[in-house]
Amino acid sequence: MTSEPKVNSGQKIAIVTGGSRGIGRNTAVSLAERGVDLIITYQSNRAEADAAVTAIEVMGRTAVALQLEVGDIGSLSDFADRVRATLQDTWGRSDFDYLVNNAGSHRRGRIGEITETDFDYLCNIHFKGVFFLIQELLPLMTDGGRIINVSSALTRFITPGSTNSAVYASMKGAVEVLTRYMAQELGSRGITVNAVAPGAIETDFGGGVVRDNREVNRLIASHTALGRAGLTDDIGPMIASLLSDANRWVTGQRIEASGGMFL
Ligand code: NDP
Repeated sequence: MTSEPKVNSGQKIAIVTGGSRGIGRNTAVSLAERGVDLIITYQSNRAEADAAVTAIEVMGRTAVALQLEVGDIGSLSDFADRVRATLQDTWGRSDFDYLVNNAGSHRRGRIGEITETDFDYLCNIHFKGVFFLIQELLPLMTDGGRIINVSSALTRFITPGSTNSAVYASMKGAVEVLTRYMAQELGSRGITVNAVAPGAIETDFGGGVVRDNREVNRLIASHTALGRAGLTDDIGPMIASLLSDANRWVTGQRIEASGGMFL
């Protein structure tokens, strides 16, 4: 039996990398609340990805989870092929609307200690992978689409506990520069590109230190205008609102969401 070809109904479709947990999952769910369908990615934790898909489906939206290792540059072309096939099979579409580059993990090390392997690991995940993933997905993004690169407040300040994050923060800084260049180049297609820089957020990131280490959590709260460490609920809805039509004239910007850390 052949099915009817689906017509593009104006339904928005977002890709959120690392949408299985933490900030990415909250972003995906917040987008679903606004009526957006989702492709989320996970690295290895399929169960969490399935739970995120279920949470989105319960809201009446469509979601698909795809595996992605963003630091494996050679695999990104295959990932784009899987996105293309998923768009066609699930929505009858050949394009999508929003890309949130959020996936990532941390490796700490002071400047005198960090190895080339750790440097390359952080570079591949947080900078090179972001660049080439965008390059691979751009042919599939609709004109007028939106890209958000998740950076970090650590590009603006150094906390007492983050002196061992020089390489991680530098890669995020590179992504912020890349954001401006991409906004300039992609403006001709009506595509906006912005960086969102969260402050310290209570997730599994970095071994869950912001959430689980009471001393770190208290220290962060004491340097934050709003008086506490951040939650995923402070970031996901913010990213979802930045992707709304109300923010269509915002591009090439770094927008910090840190509750006012180290003002
Ligand atoms: P989490 O550890 O909670 O979640 C990370 C997500 O990224 C998971 O979905 C994970 O997949 C996926 N992931 C991890 N490594 C890779 C990889 N190499 N390739 C593809 N996917 C990967 O992290 P957060 O939600 O806290 O962080 C999300 C983003 O926010 C990161 O870019 C981080 O740098 C940034 N950020 C975080 C802050 C914080 O304090 N938490 C502060 C500022 C910025 P899986 O579930 O399969 O492991």
